[in-house]
Amino acid sequence: MARVLITEVDPGRPLGLAARAAVEQVFALFPLAVEGRRVLVKPNIIGPFPPEAGATTNPLVVGAVVDHLLERGADVVVGDNPGGLEVNSAHTARPTGLLDAARGRFLNLSREVAEVPAGSRFTDSFPLSREVLEADLVVNMPCFKTHLLTTLTGCVKNCFGYVAGAAKAALHLKAPSRNRFSELLADLYRIRPPDLHILDGVLAMEGNGPTHGTTRPLGKILAGYDGVAVDAVMARMMGVDPATLRLLSIAAERGLGEVEAIDLVGRLEVIPGFRLPSTFRSSPLEMAAALMTISTTRPRVNPERCTGCGECAVNCPPRVIRLDPHPVVEDGCISCFCCAELCPEGAIVVPGDAIAGEFGKIFS
Ligand code: SF4
Ligand code: SF4
Repeated sequence: MARVLITEVDPGRPLGLAARAAVEQVFALFPLAVEGRRVLVKPNIIGPFPPEAGATTNPLVVGAVVDHLLERGADVVVGDNPGGLEVNSAHTARPTGLLDAARGRFLNLSREVAEVPAGSRFTDSFPLSREVLEADLVVNMPCFKTHLLTTLTGCVKNCFGYVAGAAKAALHLKAPSRNRFSELLADLYRIRPPDLHILDGVLAMEGNGPTHGTTRPLGKILAGYDGVAVDAVMARMMGVDPATLRLLSIAAERGLGEVEAIDLVGRLEVIPGFRLPSTFRSSPLEMAAALMTISTTRPRVNPERCTGCGECAVNCPPRVIRLDPHPVVEDGCISCFCCAELCPEGAIVVPGDAIAGEFGKIFS
């Protein structure tokens, strides 16, 4: 049975102190022998968003973990491969506060890459950061948020950041649908499951995450040795049965973790009125219909917010975005929503109303 901790981050104390106390609770329940060992701390650095956006792991929580590990004699490094094609992860990490949180131990994970046999039907190999493969221990630090394609992004999805730089876009192309991409994520997770997962829920993101949903203070940290189980508990807090999420059910089928047999330490409360992505449907029949609709849903651009920066175009896996001067989506879109995820202005919207409308037609 997998043990998962849900702990409170005391709102009555300064966040740095409260985060430190919560992190101490995590390590008391889930100890790691770290002295003299290389420990990679892997936060979510999806893009250059400030901490209050809730898109990246809170720097005070990461800083508390780094301090704990350094005090116990670990050889700590902190790093991630940011979303999109950005390969200078320090550049991306600075506005998130995570460069400072690394206490001078930030590492550009894209600097050394190794091709690793994938054992996947989608690709022969994964180009992974060498540091991921060579670290003695990996501490995974995702955040509590939704995801347009996979419904939630937590411990398993955060390991997509093992993949170096631009290769992530190519993998999206090889496994474009929700089911296929979920399978590919499980293929990747299996190569190097982290040793401990500390999921930052100081601020939760609901709605159309992982970058432009809306935030709500949650004040929790979830943790465990089993990342699938931690994700399953997060799903339940979001009001979702984890068995209905393809990402988690595939991971469980492959023996990568538990979604049901969980020994919970702490109180699990469903967050009232938590808003899931507009792409989510709950029953298998609804999900099948929604998947049909999602696969034909195209992102739309809000020209009033768009600055014409071109970030969406260079990060579109099949390169079907043309700037004129704002983005125009041409034939060949695979509905991966990477453009919506990586637009710094939140100018690309996934038309949830359109999905709901189409969905209504199917069932009427
Ligand atoms: S939609 Fe966003 S990413 Fe694309 S050009 Fe406009 S502002 Fe840049
Ligand atoms: S236009 Fe957007 S949703 Fe379509 S393939 Fe490109 S990045 Fe993905």
